[in-house]
Amino acid sequence: QVTIYESDHTEEAFFPQQSVYDYLLPQAEGISPRPTYDDALPAFIDGPSGTVLTRGGLADAALRIASGLTQLGMKPGDVVSIWGRNCLEWVQAMYGCMAAGLVITPANVAYAPFELAHQMNNSGAQMMLVDPLLLPLFEATRPLFTASLFPASRVILLCDTADKPEDSPYKSLGEILGDRHATPVKLDGADAHTTAFLCYSSGTTGLPKGVMTSHFNLTSQLQAANISFPQIEWDKDVILGVLPFSHVYGLAVVLMHPVTRGVPVVILPKFDEISMLTAIQSYKITYGLIVPPIVIVLLHSKNLPHYDCSSLHTLVCAAAPLARSLQAAFNARLPHIVLMQGYGMTECSPATHSMRREESVGRAGTVGRLLPGYQARLVDAKGHDVKPHHAGELWLRGPCVMKGYHNNAEATASTIGPGGWLRTGDILVRSQDGFWRVIDRVKELIKYKGFQVAPAELEGVLMEHPMVADAGVVGVYDASQATELPRAYIVPKEEYADYVLLPQEVQDFVAATVAGYKKLRGGVQTIDVVPKSPSGKILRKLLRERAQREYDAI
Ligand code: AMP
Repeated sequence: QVTIYESDHTEEAFFPQQSVYDYLLPQAEGISPRPTYDDALPAFIDGPSGTVLTRGGLADAALRIASGLTQLGMKPGDVVSIWGRNCLEWVQAMYGCMAAGLVITPANVAYAPFELAHQMNNSGAQMMLVDPLLLPLFEATRPLFTASLFPASRVILLCDTADKPEDSPYKSLGEILGDRHATPVKLDGADAHTTAFLCYSSGTTGLPKGVMTSHFNLTSQLQAANISFPQIEWDKDVILGVLPFSHVYGLAVVLMHPVTRGVPVVILPKFDEISMLTAIQSYKITYGLIVPPIVIVLLHSKNLPHYDCSSLHTLVCAAAPLARSLQAAFNARLPHIVLMQGYGMTECSPATHSMRREESVGRAGTVGRLLPGYQARLVDAKGHDVKPHHAGELWLRGPCVMKGYHNNAEATASTIGPGGWLRTGDILVRSQDGFWRVIDRVKELIKYKGFQVAPAELEGVLMEHPMVADAGVVGVYDASQATELPRAYIVPKEEYADYVLLPQEVQDFVAATVAGYKKLRGGVQTIDVVPKSPSGKILRKLLRERAQREYDAI
């Protein structure tokens, strides 16, 4: 028997079919159910320098960038990558690309060359908007690019013209500005299902894949948040913008939602305790979007009492598990701050569950209610719906669910099943009054501080080591850092079976090859054989249990 849990507004007509740019910065009154805000209000503030980008300034920059990109030959539907630290230029570039109807594939700033090349080649990116600091890595990656050779005219530096490196063959964002405003590309009706973003996620298995997030997915996400969770207010709130913009949590929840509410975001280039506390004090930040390791930092912070953080009243923590005990300890130490959890995934644009401030008291450990538009089921390993109040894999359907994986019909079909149900790979349980709790994860994915680490990718890297015959990677949980850590099991080739330095060598080899957040921080252990099913699939549950036991004993 199928049991479908419905949220409000599952009728498709409730969600706006228009481009996400039009939804965010409406050109005329009345096309959006939301108020239009004064152009002079700050939209984004650069934390370190204090530079303010007003709403009018954002629209002006976006439409001139859109015009400049068109003059460079970019057409609606072309793919462009943004690769850089969080900064105002990143935001302007994103809004400009959206106005021009381009598909944006944001790349993680920590990427090593092979990771960047995988995303650029797989997405077919034709243009790169790149942080000058990353230029050496970009140039080092050139030999690995197959889809585009990125001629000089297709590489734009994400910086002010004044900050452009001397003798650079590339133009800065400021230098490509058109002298007129482009008309934002219209995507009304069925056209709203055009892809807007390709963020990379490994989903339930395998390598990172391009998640096709449509304009409609995003307008639905924003509409759902605005109607049912209107928690931030234009004349009261200031948002902490520390999450990486390359992740959809940063993109949609930090760079888009506040704009629909007329609320400013203070941008920090990366997480650092003192910069965060300084920003909270200086800009009177009220509302923070964070990940579990930041909760730990705040909980144990010796610096916190030296800063005036009295403005901060709400923190929303998502993207990875937050232990109930940690949430309760935080509530006890900092009772004036409401710490709530949200839950979601890249494939759902991203939020699927969210907590209302007024309902959060006494609900530590839960991720709130299902967001409007979603239908949900909880299903057991055999595909049967579980009995009420039992835990099962969460399956979701609704307007925020991705169109599928880019150029990967097979992975799409194994993730979005018959009836359009997306399998999340997470085990949840729902209380009688509609609050959900995340219990476990059955997919391969490891989350290091909210960042995705795909075991299959690390196993591929390990297999390239000349002394390794086989490998399996799983996550272990480290409570002191509130994060999972990737841990590898390797089978040495016969001739290296007695080579005691191999685990350390392999750990260094991986560290030198991958993005910093994918390092094997949980350790490397040799093993006689990686446990596998008769069909050759790694028995990850078994390995995970063993890994946790061993890690806890260290
Ligand atoms: P991503 O696509 O990078 O956003 O990763 C999504 C995955 O992160 C989910 O499928 C969950 O496994 C995990 N996740 C997100 N939010 C939470 C949460 N509040 N509690 C536990 N796991 C979470």
